[in-house]
Amino acid sequence: MSRTVYLNGEYLPEAEAKVSIFDRAFLMADGVYEVTSVLGGKLIDFDGHLARLERSLTELDMPKPAAFDELLEIHRKLVELNGIDEGLIYLQVTRGAPGDRDFAFPDPESCEPTLVLFTQSKPGLADSPTAKTGIKVISIEDIRWGRRDIKTVQLLYPSMGKMMAKKAGADDAWMVEDGAVTEGTSNNAYIVKDGKIITRNLSTDILHGITRAAVLKFAREAQMIVEERPFTIEEAQQADEAFYTSASAFVMPVVEIDGAKIGDGTPGGVALRLREIYLDESRKAGI
Ligand code: PMP
Repeated sequence: MSRTVYLNGEYLPEAEAKVSIFDRAFLMADGVYEVTSVLGGKLIDFDGHLARLERSLTELDMPKPAAFDELLEIHRKLVELNGIDEGLIYLQVTRGAPGDRDFAFPDPESCEPTLVLFTQSKPGLADSPTAKTGIKVISIEDIRWGRRDIKTVQLLYPSMGKMMAKKAGADDAWMVEDGAVTEGTSNNAYIVKDGKIITRNLSTDILHGITRAAVLKFAREAQMIVEERPFTIEEAQQADEAFYTSASAFVMPVVEIDGAKIGDGTPGGVALRLREIYLDESRKAGI
């Protein structure tokens, strides 16, 4: 069945939603995005995703396409129209299609932003079999630009990183800069040592994960100790556990890094507990 998607004020069958070849995201990756998960038909961490979207837009001096209430309504309507119980909603805002190619930003008075949203149905997202076995990662150099805190659609290197992982028989890649892990290709990275949760501190070096913020809050509420600082691949390989977080995978155990087993090579207790707490609390707070 064809999906109904949203494009610039209209709900359309996916095949009818068309964007200009002059769109700045198509020509220059001049766009930002958000991915919100849906559990039981409810939006998870929606306020956080919208707050980060606003920040990305502000940092890039990009016009806001719609008010919070309107964006919430579009998300809800797409969930309803597409009958999404578990899945994801992708939202993208671009600087629009000025009608020609030019490095300079178009005048926001005459060039409207492009707003696109679509759903991805993923039955069984929360009960993922992968979370029960854990995943393997490799390390790769982080050669991305210096404003990784802005959620832009420049995803070529992360995409190449996934392919490098696949080729190496792994599931994902953790990126390393100046000897320390920045983050995963599409997630925030953590290790656990002697009961302490260690994850890189927030800066322009990493995306400020919405799931990261929620998981760290729940961890602290559960009296777990959290240390926000960079860590190396060697430290990760000697850790008791490793995991990552993202809106599409929640809390995902990592059981192998560059061929070295983490702990006993099975998902760790802290990661599994945080996954359970995150899913329980998110379902309760979903809107
Ligand atoms: N880092 C990167 C590079 C990402 O692409 C993502 C997911 N978009 C994350 C971290 C996790 O962020 P969130 O928890 O908001 O999905």
